Amino acid sequence: MRIGAHVDPADPLAEATARHAEVVQFFLADPQGWKDPQARADADALRGADVDVFVHAPYVINVATTNNRIRIPSRKLLVKHADAARTVGARGLIVHGGHVDKGDLATGIDNWRKTFAYAEESGGFATQILIENTAGGENACARRFDALARLWDVVGEFGVGFCLDTCHAHAGGEDLVDIVDRVKAITGRIDLIHANDSKDGFDSGRDRHDNLGSGNIDPDLVVAVIRAADAPVVVETPGGATGQSADIAYLRKRLNG
Ligand SMILES: [Zn+2]
Repeated sequence: MRIGAHVDPADPLAEATARHAEVVQFFLADPQGWKDPQARADADALRGADVDVFVHAPYVINVATTNNRIRIPSRKLLVKHADAARTVGARGLIVHGGHVDKGDLATGIDNWRKTFAYAEESGGFATQILIENTAGGENACARRFDALARLWDVVGEFGVGFCLDTCHAHAGGEDLVDIVDRVKAITGRIDLIHANDSKDGFDSGRDRHDNLGSGNIDPDLVVAVIRAADAPVVVETPGGATGQSADIAYLRKRLNG
C-alpha cells in the first residue's frame, strides 16, 4: 500500500523524504486563485522520482456551476492544470465535484459533460482526472452518492477516475461502513484515498480535516476503507511533517498488523 501526504509545493520531494512518504500530492498554483500553473524547475526530478505524484486542482474551480463567469474559466484552468500535471508525471489531477448554486443538479451534471467535451476538442485532459467527493452544500454533484450516481451516468464514459475522501464522506453524510462497495457500485473504481479524520460530526457539511484518531471518525473505519479500496493513500491532515508523519506511520502499522 503506497501512503503519503499533501505537502507544500515548494519542494515536494524533500517533504516526501521528511515524512517517509511514497506518495505526494501538491498544488501547482494558489488553490484560492485563478493564476495559471507555472513551469517547475523540479519537473524532471518529480517525473523520475520513486514517489507517486498527484496534483490537486485549485478549490476555486467549479465546472458544474450555472454561473458562466465561473464555469468557463474553471474548465479552461482545469485543462491547464492537467497539462502542467503531466509535466511532473502526475498519476492523477484531483478536482472537487463542484455544485450548482441553486436549482437544478441536472444542469450541473450536464456542465460536467460539457467540460469533458470541451477538453476532448483539444485531445482530452493530459492527466487522468479524479473527481473527489465533497463535504458541503445541498446542490453538490459529489457529496451524496445519489447525486454521484447521476453524475457518473453522464461522465463515466469519459474514463474519469474517483478520489474518496474519508473526512468529506463522514461530514457529507455518507457512512464509511461499506463505503468502498457503495462507491465502486457507482464508479467501478477508486483511484486514490484521502485518509483524513474530521473535526466535525456526521453530516455536518463542514470540511475541517483532523489527524487520524483525533477527530470524530473511528480510525478503524479509515483503515477498513483503505484495505477495501486497495488504492494509493494521501493524508491531508494538519501538523506539518510531524503530524502527517505520525498519521502515515499509524496507517502503515495498522495496515501491516
Ligand atoms: Zn481531500
